[in-house]
Amino acid sequence: MPKKRRKLDVVCSNKKCRRYNKKGLKNIVRNGKKQNGTQNYKCTECNKQFVRTKGTPLYYSKLPKKEVKNICNHFVEKNSFRGVARATKHSLNAIYRVADKVGKHCEKVDEEFLVDLNLDMVEADEIFSFIKKRRKTASAKV
Ligand SMILES: [Zn+2]
Repeated sequence: MPKKRRKLDVVCSNKKCRRYNKKGLKNIVRNGKKQNGTQNYKCTECNKQFVRTKGTPLYYSKLPKKEVKNICNHFVEKNSFRGVARATKHSLNAIYRVADKVGKHCEKVDEEFLVDLNLDMVEADEIFSFIKKRRKTASAKV
């Protein structure tokens, strides 16, 4: 299968911009990456910069995207937060934080989030049910 080129489905988030929230106008260009690997974008109309992951767990996470994905994958495989922490070499609190954010986003099925982590709905569903189950037993300090 040929490598699929991801469509730039980002829109300008500046409400004062003439191209605010309009798709397919090619006014959005890639503009380097943030420290944690999040893609940065710029609107050529108003010059405002923004990230697509705004409002998703990745935006708030200090962890690099691939680490968040890694942790998510382990949510599916392991059966405890402690197990995930051990496997990914992150602190238990870091795992709680990711689980909390991911859990919130899975609840409303955040498509952007799924795209960002290259997860499909089934994986997301598994992760969500895992987090929901664990949340009841773990007294997470977030
Ligand atoms: Zn703009």
